[in-house]
Amino acid sequence: MSQANLDFPEPSATPARGTYRGRFAPSPTGPLHIGSLVTALASWLDARVHGGTWLVRIEDIDFQRNVPGADRDILAALEAFGLAPDEAPQWQSAHLHRFETALAQLQAIDQLYPCGCTRREIADSVTTIDANGRLRHQTLIYPGTCRNGLNGRPPRAWRVRVPEADTATICFEDRWQGTQCQNIAEAVGDFVLKRADGMWAYQIAVVADDAAQGITDVVRGADLLDSTPRQIYLQQLLGLPPVRYMHVPVVVNADGEKLSKQTGARAINRSQPLAALTEAARHLGLEIRAEDLEGFYRDAVPAWANRIAQLSPAT
Ligand code: GLU
Repeated sequence: MSQANLDFPEPSATPARGTYRGRFAPSPTGPLHIGSLVTALASWLDARVHGGTWLVRIEDIDFQRNVPGADRDILAALEAFGLAPDEAPQWQSAHLHRFETALAQLQAIDQLYPCGCTRREIADSVTTIDANGRLRHQTLIYPGTCRNGLNGRPPRAWRVRVPEADTATICFEDRWQGTQCQNIAEAVGDFVLKRADGMWAYQIAVVADDAAQGITDVVRGADLLDSTPRQIYLQQLLGLPPVRYMHVPVVVNADGEKLSKQTGARAINRSQPLAALTEAARHLGLEIRAEDLEGFYRDAVPAWANRIAQLSPAT
């Protein structure tokens, strides 16, 4: 059985000029809001500073969560903000075969198995209380019920095997957050790649797409930090090139929740792009005082270069 951390090249700490490929990967669940603008701006600035290419990928494979027209709306908003992608945008739903291929590859190396558990059964068996006395329902740690067979139950979902806990720690160097480590056996267990309803899980889709699009650098919100070790694990199993990561702070509302449509984020006023961009830049620690969009970007690119130089001399 293959194991995490063996013979897997580390990405070099410094993105190379000219070969850098970054992306912004919004889910079309609503209009662009200040939280997503922060992520878009950070990934765009990072691509510019490294003389790279910046792509936009619409992550529209969770069909129940898609809002009709939100994809076009996000693309139009990016355009209005001066954040046009360097290549034509891609829609994740247009190449589901990539995920099927990745799944078949994992099956061929015996790292995949069908799972017959219902969501309720798994939740019932893993509810725990964390150090702060709170019930943990959010990350369902799979107890491995179907690891060795379905016991006559019909297959529902497909899971990838993770190594035993003593070899399941994945570490990576985050360009904003520093060294991050997670034991994926203890944090999540064998995780779902294809759901019981036939939908693809974000983890496999993002890994397959980033590789297919030659992405070298992922800059996204820190709310996805705890997904990254799973994604690195899948890259390792699939023999894909490693990616550098930077997780920027997420914008939160007054209750400390990540801004999303569900937590009351409103669409940004597109007629005042400079005000919204100035606010987004401030969130990233950049104080830009410009009169127009052109001036904003002229100042923001060197300001970002200074900002990341403070984070780590290597970036
Ligand atoms: N589609 C994900 C989201 O909107 C982001 C995925 C990523 O950047 O890896 O939260």
